[in-house]
Amino acid sequence: MTINQIINKFKENNPNEDTSLIELAFEFAQKAHNNQLRKSGEQYIQHCLHTAFVLAQMKTDLNTIIAGLLHDVPEDTKYTLEEIAKNFGEEVAMLVEGVTKLSKIKYRGIERYRESLRKMFLAMAHDLRVILIKFADRLHNLRTLDSLPPEKQIRIAKETMEIYAPVAGLLGIWRLKWQMEDICFKYLQPEEYKNLEYKYEVEKKIENNQYIQQIKNILGDGLKKEKMDFQITSRFKHLFSIYRKMQQKNYQFDEIYDVFALRVVVPTIADCYKVLGIIHSLWTPKANRFKDYIAVPKPNGYRSLQTTVFGIDGKTTEFQIRTKEMDEEAKYGIASHWNYKTKNNNKEKRKEQPRWIREILKIQHETEDTHDFIKQIKFDIFCDRIFVFSPKGDAFDLPEGATPIDFAYAVHSDIGNKATGVRINDKIAPLSQVLKNGDLVEIIIEKKRKTPSRDWLRFVKTGKARNRIKQTLKGTLLNNLKKYIPGM
Ligand code: MN
Repeated sequence: MTINQIINKFKENNPNEDTSLIELAFEFAQKAHNNQLRKSGEQYIQHCLHTAFVLAQMKTDLNTIIAGLLHDVPEDTKYTLEEIAKNFGEEVAMLVEGVTKLSKIKYRGIERYRESLRKMFLAMAHDLRVILIKFADRLHNLRTLDSLPPEKQIRIAKETMEIYAPVAGLLGIWRLKWQMEDICFKYLQPEEYKNLEYKYEVEKKIENNQYIQQIKNILGDGLKKEKMDFQITSRFKHLFSIYRKMQQKNYQFDEIYDVFALRVVVPTIADCYKVLGIIHSLWTPKANRFKDYIAVPKPNGYRSLQTTVFGIDGKTTEFQIRTKEMDEEAKYGIASHWNYKTKNNNKEKRKEQPRWIREILKIQHETEDTHDFIKQIKFDIFCDRIFVFSPKGDAFDLPEGATPIDFAYAVHSDIGNKATGVRINDKIAPLSQVLKNGDLVEIIIEKKRKTPSRDWLRFVKTGKARNRIKQTLKGTLLNNLKKYIPGM
């Protein structure tokens, strides 16, 4: 990796900006890390360059890239933060300091887990760019994990799965989340990884490529007939998400039908709905698989239309339809619509940020005192949404007041129907207990159980849980008879 690759990447989005500071930062970092080597034997500066490159890919601003180049200087060299501030300004120094502080977050088992998340949220609230640098740094560390001793590999992989990946998911930075998860999966479950990777490659190469081409041709013809401007791409799901699905639903690999998805990118929102209509006229849509995340975006800002149809020979085929802007956002989430130029305070732009990020920013601007800020922000910042975590580290967002039953149905209807108890932060709790932000929730299920309890309707908060409970109860005719005809 060379500094020119970073400058070129940055120039793609900022053709007119002066990049001489990036070069100066590179020279400074090179001088500071001098002859240091990474455990892999590479020059240390390569780590700084790779970190900065990931940031340039995420289209961050100039100062973030400079801070990315310098992020290990105060920790690992004789040069100080003051010198960074003197040469590159207070803002860069503040970013580097934030990253240095965050590096003290370490995964040390479940009791430290919430504390680490809290620190992460606080750093994020202070300046989101700190987290982006930390993510880029972590990604390169993961890519070079091979050169570390096995215990360290495991610790870093676990920490990434428990903290970094879920937070990247919350922020909608899917690309990083997937990349991180797949690397960690390889280290944490090498057997399963190898096994799945093999099947996946076979499936990908032989089974699907031809099929995808056929679908692309048919849809392409349909769209051309309507004189639409479009781009169809395909992508294979990442390994860990397939693995997780197999675990959750107890599926075999061949039963996972959505190993790939087709993506249609069009100029306008109206075009998205038009494409949806064309797809549904070509193939029959699968019930309950259509999702309109354009009308109702996910809390992290994700927007797309999603549908699954019975394609050629009835093969289930998933489509994502979105505009170019949504496509960028889906890759880099918050990073792509973060308002880097806060000084111009473009209100329109700021409105597009998820509400909870706006809230954090508001508090950040209103409170001068760090102590007050921390007190105020806590976790209740997400006042009408909460984020809770499964034992595997998956994040789920739920409305405020949600209970373990809501969580269970958010994971899967079957988990909901079979729930008999819950451990919240490792302690047994009632199923009606109101969940708090950052709770670690583990549902205890009884395999034989098939029906939910009618009592749950008294306290569930989400429409999904309520509907599923009602549906399941209704479906069990005997249950109804017992209830309405006493003595039966
Ligand atoms: Mn680093």
